[in-house]
Amino acid sequence: MLYFDNAATTQPDASVLDSYVKVNQQFYFNPNSPHDKGVEAGRLLQQARTQIKTTLQLQDETVIFTSGATESNNMALKGAAYQKKHFGRTLITSVLEHPSVLEVMRALETEGFTLKYVNVTKEGRIDLEHLKSLMSSDVILLTCMQVNNIMGQVQPIAEIVDILKDYPKVHFHVDAVQAMGKFPLVTNGVDSIALSGHKFNGLKGQGVLILKNMHNIQPIIHGGGQEFALRSGTVNVPMDVACAKAIRLAEDHRQAMMRELAEVNRQIRAFVAQHPGVYINSPDDASPHILNIAFPGVRGEVLVNAFSKLGVMISTTSACSSKHAKVNEVLQAMGISTSRILGSIRLSFDYNTKQTDVKAFQQAFDTVYEEVKELLEQ
Ligand code: PMP
Repeated sequence: MLYFDNAATTQPDASVLDSYVKVNQQFYFNPNSPHDKGVEAGRLLQQARTQIKTTLQLQDETVIFTSGATESNNMALKGAAYQKKHFGRTLITSVLEHPSVLEVMRALETEGFTLKYVNVTKEGRIDLEHLKSLMSSDVILLTCMQVNNIMGQVQPIAEIVDILKDYPKVHFHVDAVQAMGKFPLVTNGVDSIALSGHKFNGLKGQGVLILKNMHNIQPIIHGGGQEFALRSGTVNVPMDVACAKAIRLAEDHRQAMMRELAEVNRQIRAFVAQHPGVYINSPDDASPHILNIAFPGVRGEVLVNAFSKLGVMISTTSACSSKHAKVNEVLQAMGISTSRILGSIRLSFDYNTKQTDVKAFQQAFDTVYEEVKELLEQ
């Protein structure tokens, strides 16, 4: 099998799984229990938090463990909007965001907040001039992903931070799910960052919310007061220890992996370019771990099935939206034609992807191309 669907999820690293199992066997105790074993589990939890802070070179930020980026995004966005609602009502996002951001923002809109969408350039980047024009003293929350999960384009987070310097009231949230392990996280001037363990060879159902100032958000999950009273519920110490390990491995491997993937990506782009009627959707400077390709005239689902039969696992646009018949909003916002959108597939790579996989992909590609080439729009 050739697994090219790593933006949907990655294979857990064996040593991460091992940590998870060992901690579950030996330290399954509740870290809130006052007895010695509970204290030991609490110490492990604290070590995991510290390790993440050290690995990511965080300063005074608070690391909160969650069940995934969906929860982290919900917590940060709702938590900040509720906390700041007396200062203003305007929220800013873009249609590029993952549903776990976009649908939260839309839910906040139904609660009486004003939601504004910043325009997107044809490269899929936030239009910074338009963003400046949307800014006002009523804005309290801005959210932007660091790397897009469908096309791989990288957003100008530092430039956005610059714009926000004139608006200190604004909470700036970054969904860094697809950036973790690929790019350094931008922390300067960012109020909160969401991560998801299973996107960097960690485990599913495990996430992180990094908060610059934990008093800037209100809790949306109430209960026993765990995780600084921001995320109540018995803490999953084995998961969180495994997450700290996955973060460390991702950072250790990051540069070598990105060099390898740049080469994999370059070779596949060059190969695809030799096939009339097939186009690359991802911008040239997108993250090399995501490559979006269009076969206008053919349906993405048909392509995914054809590749799947040949043992190559890819996705249409994103696993979250591929079951919905709706035309993808992200590709639409980038001005990509409907036939290109409907015929798009996403290849996504990770640490396990090597240049030696390219040949096998090319063979499968040629077989699929032969099957569909009569249908391609010329
Ligand atoms: N944000 C982005 C950019 C993502 O790609 C994903 C996962 N598809 C999420 C958030 C949500 O992560 P999870 O499903 O692990 O909660």
